[in-house]
Amino acid sequence: MPTIIDGKLVAEEIKNELAQKVEILKNEGKKVPGLVTILVGDNPASQVYIKMKNKACGKIGFLSKVELMPENTEEKDLLDLIEKYNNDSNYHGILVQLPLPKQINEDKVIASISPAKDVDGFHPVSVGNLVIGNDTFFPCTPFGIMKLLEKYKIDPKGKHVVVVGRSNIVGKPIANMMLQKQKGANAVVTICHSAADDLSYFTKQADILIAAIGRANFITADMVKDDCVVIDVGINRVDDSSTEKGYKIVGDVDFENVKTKAAFITPVPGGVGVMTIAMLLYNTYKAYAKFEKINN
Ligand code: NAP
Repeated sequence: MPTIIDGKLVAEEIKNELAQKVEILKNEGKKVPGLVTILVGDNPASQVYIKMKNKACGKIGFLSKVELMPENTEEKDLLDLIEKYNNDSNYHGILVQLPLPKQINEDKVIASISPAKDVDGFHPVSVGNLVIGNDTFFPCTPFGIMKLLEKYKIDPKGKHVVVVGRSNIVGKPIANMMLQKQKGANAVVTICHSAADDLSYFTKQADILIAAIGRANFITADMVKDDCVVIDVGINRVDDSSTEKGYKIVGDVDFENVKTKAAFITPVPGGVGVMTIAMLLYNTYKAYAKFEKINN
């Protein structure tokens, strides 16, 4: 029987630790960590994410603000708003919800966030530091994966980690994090993508397989080796008339069949996904602690 990695449990632990720290700060009459989230437009998925992030902040006692801007916002107005928060010492983290409307250049917007407040870890300075192996803000989803492995005492050192997907938000950063010659990493890493002729040639070699593809149930049992660790990042909607909403969320891994071979596996939902917000809060606290010169 595989161990089902419980992301909810680990995320709760991280959030509880942060809530306790905030409690102490409040008792000492100190400023608390602050996060501003900026949403441009009315993308329904983005609205849900922003709401969840704001709620999570409130629950652990962070200062939290949501800035809503209309779909037709001009790039300059967004850049001006970011600059305002770059200079606001009450907000230690700035998150601009992606994707942005097409008239706005995403790269320019990400680069305009102060690296000291880049709690999403997407700024080129953060990315560069990650690759070099310097301390930085790690992007929240890959960071969540590293935390899950740590909590379940799965040491990637010397293991063959195969990452399927090379996006800037998941595939590339997790591959780079796994590669670092550091405790909790130090893996041998292969990155796969859609140009791979025979994907299963690679996935079958994985001691730790990370699927960040965006295709429902794509990784099947015949694509993995016995006793591997399977980390499923995918969030895919599939029709399901038996549910009230008419759909359900599944991962990139055919969970029911792959779990018969795996030693450890993350479920969807309840695996990697729930870790993302916990790590955003973690990064916000980190930004706060650095800015306010707090050691803990
Ligand atoms: P993405 O930007 O669309 O990247 C998908 C990657 O998968 C690309 O590198 C693509 O290759 C590769 N790919 C697609 N089809 C393939 C195939 N047949 N064989 C091999 N590789 C293939 O997606 P993403 O943003 O990384 O997200 C991936 C999944 O994770 C999505 O389901 C997303 O919803 C989910 N996600 C979850 C969280 C969370 O848990 N909080 C956060 C982010 C993303 P090419 O580069 O060649 O196109």
